[in-house]
Amino acid sequence: MNDIGAPPRIGHVAIIGAGFSGALQAINLLRHDGPRVTLIERRGSFARGIAYSTPNAAHLLNVRAANMSALPDDPDHFVRWLAATGKGKAQSFASRQDYGRYLSELLRETIASTPDRLMLMRGSAAELKLCADGVTIGFGSGGRLAADAAVLALGNLPPHDPFGLADAGLPAGLYSADPWADGFDQPLDDDDTVLIIGTGLTMVDVVLSLEAQGFGGKIIAISRRGLAPRAHGDASMARSSLSEKPAMYGSALVHFVRERTRQVGWRAAIDELRPYTQAMWLSAPQAEQGRFLRHIRAWWDVHRHRLSPEVAARIDALRANGRLRVVAGKICEARAVEGDVAIRYRPRHGDRIEVITARRVINCTGPQGDLLRTREPLLQGLMAAGHIRPDPHRFGIDVTAQAETIDVDGHRNARLLALGPMTRGTFWEIVAVPDIRTQTWSVARRLSHAHWVQGEGL
Ligand SMILES: Cc1cc2nc3c(=O)[nH]c(=O)nc-3n(C[C@H](O)[C@H](O)[C@H](O)COP(=O)(O)OP(=O)(O)OC[C@H]3O[C@@H](n4cnc5c(N)ncnc54)[C@H](O)[C@@H]3O)c2cc1C
Repeated sequence: MNDIGAPPRIGHVAIIGAGFSGALQAINLLRHDGPRVTLIERRGSFARGIAYSTPNAAHLLNVRAANMSALPDDPDHFVRWLAATGKGKAQSFASRQDYGRYLSELLRETIASTPDRLMLMRGSAAELKLCADGVTIGFGSGGRLAADAAVLALGNLPPHDPFGLADAGLPAGLYSADPWADGFDQPLDDDDTVLIIGTGLTMVDVVLSLEAQGFGGKIIAISRRGLAPRAHGDASMARSSLSEKPAMYGSALVHFVRERTRQVGWRAAIDELRPYTQAMWLSAPQAEQGRFLRHIRAWWDVHRHRLSPEVAARIDALRANGRLRVVAGKICEARAVEGDVAIRYRPRHGDRIEVITARRVINCTGPQGDLLRTREPLLQGLMAAGHIRPDPHRFGIDVTAQAETIDVDGHRNARLLALGPMTRGTFWEIVAVPDIRTQTWSVARRLSHAHWVQGEGL
């Protein structure tokens, strides 16, 4: 991150949200001997968040263990934990449950080694008031907490209802609006069909969950383009690297990636951009960012966010035996009909409307961050007071390169920061562990003033 000035002296930071981002922010502040921390979480567990609290052991990480250390200054940290627990090696795709265990242990160990510096607090932060020298957080259940600064580490917002579903008035048993919140406890029969809206990583998770529950019926997944995530290659596959950040956008960049694909293969051509994608996004004009999102993003996402070979093989097998069908098309309408849902859709390259009849419809269109549509009281209040504003692409909260929020008048606020996927408008590549661990590390160094002693970033 670039620097533009010293942050204020801060003695106590309140971190709202204790998923990967919030927990790592707390851990890094303590590791840098920084301010005292209160880590606030409304769910049952700390340091797991949505991704790492899954009860399903078949939900695997989509990144090899070698690149999943929580600590950027100790790249083998997770691999050593895996080896010590007998759960895998550097090239393994560990389970997300195990990764959650790893993070919880790391948080516990950090607290034990620095007693009295970190307080865990269970509660839902419902409002945040800012004044010149600090913040006051109000909780849904009553009670307040004062701190010198706050960090919003709220994770993604729930998905929006897709077109055609929002006003369909489908009962909860037929339609699951948020696969992370709703669970799948109503029984299904093997002659039922489940329709999944969305064909990305969330679809894959839900297919594996249906499998784990013993569902033997048909699953149809639909999205506009019908693009599904690709698989990682073998660990022995050749890698390549670029000597500098490509200084190009749009069609020139697409040409470049095509050319590199011919030379080194598509996986290596995507992976070699990875060290530069955040910097490329940060330096791209907003219009170029918009063009990327409109024309390249869908293709980029399925190649960049890949499945472990094991999970990919299970999905391929389900597709091969007809249990899972991936459809490209646009939903026009959904209606409840005698205990089922009838979904009318227009196939991508067709002009006739077709109908799918499903016993359950699950919205897997993926997480959202649009502040103008959020129902989260904390964010609604901050927006109403003008303390935060949406980023230009409406991915989440507009922040500076130092993760400081930007208010409605364009002023940065060093006492209200935001982390993780909700800062995607500024950083783009900020949803996976390797990026968030660096973000939390850099923010911790600034808030601890370690930055000024030990030099810039990592
Ligand atoms: C299903 C899934 C699988 C993934 N797999 C991988 C992977 O294999 N490898 C990889 O590198 N990345 C993966 N990621 C991406 C990445 O690890 C996550 O995006 C990351 O964990 C984000 O963490 P977070 O803390 O920002 O958000 P979250 O995990 O969503 O945590 C946010 C927390 O904030 C709490 N919260 C929200 N609002 C409030 C409030 N008002 N008051 C109190 N608490 C609040 C929530 O309860 C939640 O626990 C995955 C993501 C998902 C969703």
